[in-house]
Amino acid sequence: MAGTLYLVATPIGNLQDISQRALDTLRTVDLIACEDTRHTLKLLNHYRISNSLISYHEHNEQERSEELTDRLVCGDSIAIVSDAGTPGICDPGFRIVQRAIEVGAAVVPIPGAVAFVNAAAASGLATDSIFFGGFLPSKKGDRRKRLEEIAMVPATLVLYESPHRLAKSLADCLDVLGDRRAAVARELTKLHEEFARGTLSELVTRFATQPAKGEFVLVIERGEKDAQQTSSSATDLAGLVAEFEAQGIEHKTALKKAAKALGMSKSDAYRMLQTKK
Ligand code: SAM
Repeated sequence: MAGTLYLVATPIGNLQDISQRALDTLRTVDLIACEDTRHTLKLLNHYRISNSLISYHEHNEQERSEELTDRLVCGDSIAIVSDAGTPGICDPGFRIVQRAIEVGAAVVPIPGAVAFVNAAAASGLATDSIFFGGFLPSKKGDRRKRLEEIAMVPATLVLYESPHRLAKSLADCLDVLGDRRAAVARELTKLHEEFARGTLSELVTRFATQPAKGEFVLVIERGEKDAQQTSSSATDLAGLVAEFEAQGIEHKTALKKAAKALGMSKSDAYRMLQTKK
């Protein structure tokens, strides 16, 4: 009889956010397949768990899935663990789940932390319907296209973002989605956990002037079909320039910084402000 594949959720920061069932599973399975063995070892050591580990990450997911499937076929029990949160959610896991199902192994999720659910729950925005979009594309053109695709999904939008792209993505969200209410959840469950709530234009200003550090989830209010959602880029630009100037930054530099934050060239921004005058 085929074995069992356990998808074990681990903490997203605070080591106490792990269930008794997850710990029991990690203790008793034949093998733990994890993204980074050193990272998982720290968790196991914290809970005095000793078990066999094997790496399973985006670069070896394909061949490792074959190997793990063979072991499932032989009746072994395997736990999949990612560096943080729920395996398979923007993390490796999907491929081995598919293979396990194909060979008739049981697939058992062991629930626990997942960043996007907690960010949405604490955002203050509606949670009756949420759309999780994972990471936005890294290239500006692709990112804007993706935002256009999801703009009118009738749900609160939830996205993962890296610190070095947060400001650019917020600016694109403002431009494509309009000035909706939003929340940025930072470092959930960690020492520096923080929620920045406001409109997208307020968040653009905030993160254009403050370096983003840590891990982030972006939560954005659903679009209203009837409302005038398309923002006036010129108004956003003028507002942002004024914000920078109010901080004592001289006009030229303020314009350059605002253009960068909104993802436009300096010359386009200059032209836009002139037209508005
Ligand atoms: N499997 C994870 C989960 O269940 O949420 C997600 C892994 S994905 C590779 C990493 C991204 O999740 C980060 O870039 C960030 O957007 C989000 N994330 C993970 N932990 C977080 C935390 N403690 N606070 C805020 N965002 C977090």
